[in-house]
Amino acid sequence: MEQTEKIYDVIVIGAGPGGMTAALYASRSNLSTLLLERGIPGGEMNNTAEVENYPGFKSILGPELAEKMYESAMQFGAEHAYGDVKRIVVDGDYRIVEAGKKSYKARAVIIATGSHHRKLGIPGEDQYNGRGVSYCAVCDGAFFRGKQLAVIGGGDSAVEEGIYLTQFADVNIVHRRDEFRAQKIIQGRAFKNEKISITWDSVVEEIKGDGQKVTGVVIRNKKTNEITEKAVDGVFIYVGILPQSDAFLDLGITDGEGWIITNEHMETAVPGIFAIGDVRQKLLRQITTAVGDGGEAGNRAFAYIEDLHDRLEAAEAAAETVD
Ligand code: FAD
Ligand code: NAP
Repeated sequence: MEQTEKIYDVIVIGAGPGGMTAALYASRSNLSTLLLERGIPGGEMNNTAEVENYPGFKSILGPELAEKMYESAMQFGAEHAYGDVKRIVVDGDYRIVEAGKKSYKARAVIIATGSHHRKLGIPGEDQYNGRGVSYCAVCDGAFFRGKQLAVIGGGDSAVEEGIYLTQFADVNIVHRRDEFRAQKIIQGRAFKNEKISITWDSVVEEIKGDGQKVTGVVIRNKKTNEITEKAVDGVFIYVGILPQSDAFLDLGITDGEGWIITNEHMETAVPGIFAIGDVRQKLLRQITTAVGDGGEAGNRAFAYIEDLHDRLEAAEAAAETVD
């Protein structure tokens, strides 16, 4: 593994709204900062059509907000490199971040790796992934002009992305209960939308296809156990999220489900390792909360590094006195 020579003050892992804000705060405090990202900067914002709950913009496209945040994050000299982080090793006062063939050395690390979509685990889901099954309306919606779609789930993502999909297709939202979990304002829009129908109290048990592409879904009503088959051309699945924390499980900083536990200053149980945004154990996962976490972590990383310098100077002074 090739270890880069430079020692960074802070390495931020993940360039979603949380990570980009942390990089902004750290670099603006004159900390040498590296932002490592394995994909396109922006995180989940790149998969979001319209954002209308981020202050300063009445409404803005997710990828556009991502671009603006990136420009903002890089303006004080933070570096950005490609890296798919596999492990963090604690080496005394240093934190070694391993990403593929490269490893990077830092005094503090901020984990901002977010979450990824949960799968349903039903027959047909993997077989037709990319051939009618999708987890991203913004990426794939336009392939379904004039078609019939099933959207599975009842949270913000399912209902909001279901509404987005109606510009291309007729949408049937299949939800396992008789009320949505989504914010009321989003629900209201779905109820008013003539291109949306809702199948309540029901689960999709199988995604059917002709071997090449999706042709339908098998739906079971949970109250009556009645099974129906509905012809659809595509299935969009939004049944919740899972933490992207596999690379950090050996640090002992996660709960039983893999969410990273922090205090209100974004400090984990390992000194010098912070966690922010969706990957953190918390109740509200939004762009605003990821951004807030990022500001706090950037600021606390600065304080941590100052303390570290003070400790090292005091230790050196003590050693000189003994000599
Ligand atoms: P993310 O945005 O998930 O970014 C994490 C980044 O880390 C990603 O870029 C990923 O590639 C990178 N990464 C992960 N693992 C590694 C690794 N090992 N090495 C290197 N890089 C890594 N919130 C709102 O406030 N308003 C909305 O309208 C809204 N709409 C949404 C619509 C959808 C469909 C979804 C799924 C979510 C939506 N959200 C919305 C929620 C919001 O997107 C998230 O809360 C927010 O993006 C979390 O930010 P984050 O920085 O914690 O993580
Ligand atoms: P979520 O809030 O966890 O909702 C998941 C939905 O899927 C729930 O309705 C759940 O049903 C259903 N579900 C879970 N497992 C299922 C299964 N096995 N079979 C069928 N249905 C199942 O997830 P999300 O909607 O992806 O949202 C994730 C986070 O992003 C949330 O914090 C959300 O607020 C945020 N977000 C915000 C916005 C916004 O602010 N505009 C937009 C999108 C997402 P139950 O309701 O019965 O549990």
